[in-house]
Amino acid sequence: MSGLPTLDELRGGSKRALARALAAIETHAESEALARLLDAATAAPRAHVIGLTGPPGVGKSTLTNALIARARERHETVGVIAVDPSSRRSGGALLGDRARIATDPSDRGVFVRSMAARDRLGGLAEQTIAAMVLMRAIHDLVLVESVGIGQSESDISFVADTMLMCIQPGSGDSLQFMKAGVMEWPDIVVVTKSDMEAAARRARADVEGALTLVAGSAERPRAPVVLVSATRHQGFVELEQAIADHRAWLREADRLARRRRVQEDSWVAEAIRYRFGSVGRAVADGLAAGPGGPFSREQFVNHELMRRLRS
Ligand code: GDP
Repeated sequence: MSGLPTLDELRGGSKRALARALAAIETHAESEALARLLDAATAAPRAHVIGLTGPPGVGKSTLTNALIARARERHETVGVIAVDPSSRRSGGALLGDRARIATDPSDRGVFVRSMAARDRLGGLAEQTIAAMVLMRAIHDLVLVESVGIGQSESDISFVADTMLMCIQPGSGDSLQFMKAGVMEWPDIVVVTKSDMEAAARRARADVEGALTLVAGSAERPRAPVVLVSATRHQGFVELEQAIADHRAWLREADRLARRRRVQEDSWVAEAIRYRFGSVGRAVADGLAAGPGGPFSREQFVNHELMRRLRS
């Protein structure tokens, strides 16, 4: 496709240019130009990427809005990806009364992209990673908001550097959280709506109790639990400190680079699965292990791997 902007042009702050690049990703308009742009973006990360997840109604959009506003006060530019497992347009029961991410359209420092599974041809996870990589190279902060955990179409745990899991007081979320597997992956647990005072404190105690069952380690420290009220603007200093602490920890011992490498691997895997299905994935794994392998993501997006798969 012609007319794709360069990374420098995108960094110049044109929202229209960024929208064009994202449209190319979303329509699978594969081209050498898009591959080059994504390679350049992958090689030049700027932002820290924060993922926010949790059940519908927990307060993710409200929290995202508050984090955007605070970052803009610090004159940081922000890219936001809002992933919905269902269509936003149909406004289904799941997300019908959800607060939308509301930003000032004249503010050149914020860019919001919604991605809804039903509006897509497929490959949502792949598109989310590609959009994140692009925004990460352009903005100072990237927020990726998604409903749910563990569903492949909306699972953003592999898209973020720091994962926030949101839990609502008095909702039974903290019981859900205690289920095996779930409490091990968030980097920070946010108890939202802390203005529901006693219930919020109870939720925090429940979650902290559950977290003591997880053995913390140097490579997987126990997640801190932070109380936040987005509507009353409370708890943000503590939340931002927890994010800063996690970021500092990631910067030690090559952890951030390793985490991002895992993200790139799942990007390749998703891209191959989308185009060639699970058989293609197996063939690709064989190619990776054989002579000429391992292939890189760059080779893949540069069509080298596709040529090898087809031949
Ligand atoms: P999402 O579905 O997780 O994105 O949740 P929303 O951000 O749309 O919030 C769901 C509902 O909770 C809305 O009615 C919000 O006004 C409300 N809400 C969000 N944050 C707070 C908060 O800090 N305190 C209270 N009391 N309500 C909140």
